[in-house]
Amino acid sequence: MDKLREHIRLMVQTIVTIVTNGYVKGFATGKIYTGDLKKVCVPGLNCYSCPSALGSCPIGSYQAVIGDRQFKFTFYITGFLMVVGSTLGRLVCGWLCPFGLTQDLLYKVPFIKKIKRIRRDKYLRYFKYIILLVFVLILPLFVVDIIGQGSPVFCKWICPVGTLEGGIPLVLLNDTFVEAIGFLYIWKITILVLTIVFSILIYRPFCKYICPLGAIYSIFNGISLYKYKIDNSKCIKCGVCSKACKMNIEPFKTPNHIECIRCGDCKRVCPTAAISSGITMVNKEKKEHNSSEI
Ligand code: SF4
Ligand code: SF4
Repeated sequence: MDKLREHIRLMVQTIVTIVTNGYVKGFATGKIYTGDLKKVCVPGLNCYSCPSALGSCPIGSYQAVIGDRQFKFTFYITGFLMVVGSTLGRLVCGWLCPFGLTQDLLYKVPFIKKIKRIRRDKYLRYFKYIILLVFVLILPLFVVDIIGQGSPVFCKWICPVGTLEGGIPLVLLNDTFVEAIGFLYIWKITILVLTIVFSILIYRPFCKYICPLGAIYSIFNGISLYKYKIDNSKCIKCGVCSKACKMNIEPFKTPNHIECIRCGDCKRVCPTAAISSGITMVNKEKKEHNSSEI
């Protein structure tokens, strides 16, 4: 049963990745999909420039709008992130993000010794908020070209997802992109390689330290409708859940911690079934907690 629950998450992650990247024709033609569905955001990080992407990445879209000469604020993307965040919080990271799946799979690659926690981990986690503020929200407003168009600084200089899903496939499939290879491309490949290596050694380093989308959803984790709950009458404070948590949280103390990606590992290992999860209505929080098997 426990193994089945673990596999359910992997299945959901895989299905979401396949569905949001259903434009297989893009890999045959070397051109990205630009139809109506591209106006819709997907909840996780999924590069707009991936040849098979059907939807838009909210972080890429946000930078495109605030960098635009005419539009500086987007009610659609802000509203989208608020609705998704206040409903699911970081459940998106654990279940619906294609790059979360990529990191989960990389961490399964065997290595002599995995790193459970790096030095200054607690402080490094704040780095993703700096990335969000500086590279997603501020710099695209001010780094502009000669016609006043802002640059999507995070996508251009940092995002390894764009390199993996967009940059590399487009260069391989399209001769015109080969001519554009230069310092920026090599820089982005370097970041991608480092991300892959660290993802083999450390569980989800990009989610923990870099991801601006995870930073946004983390703000909602404590107030989202979907919540984790500890039944204190069952919890024996054994700490088994903390040992199982690859995000280094102590679930029995802070079940709705900002770093919790709702993977469910803690629930699976708890010997007394003290952890439950589900959609909790705010005004009924004390009385009611509808558990789902997610
Ligand atoms: S594993 Fe269960 S019983 Fe043990 S501390 Fe965590 S929630 Fe409590
Ligand atoms: S607290 Fe539980 S659900 Fe959250 S990341 Fe840790 S193991 Fe996963």
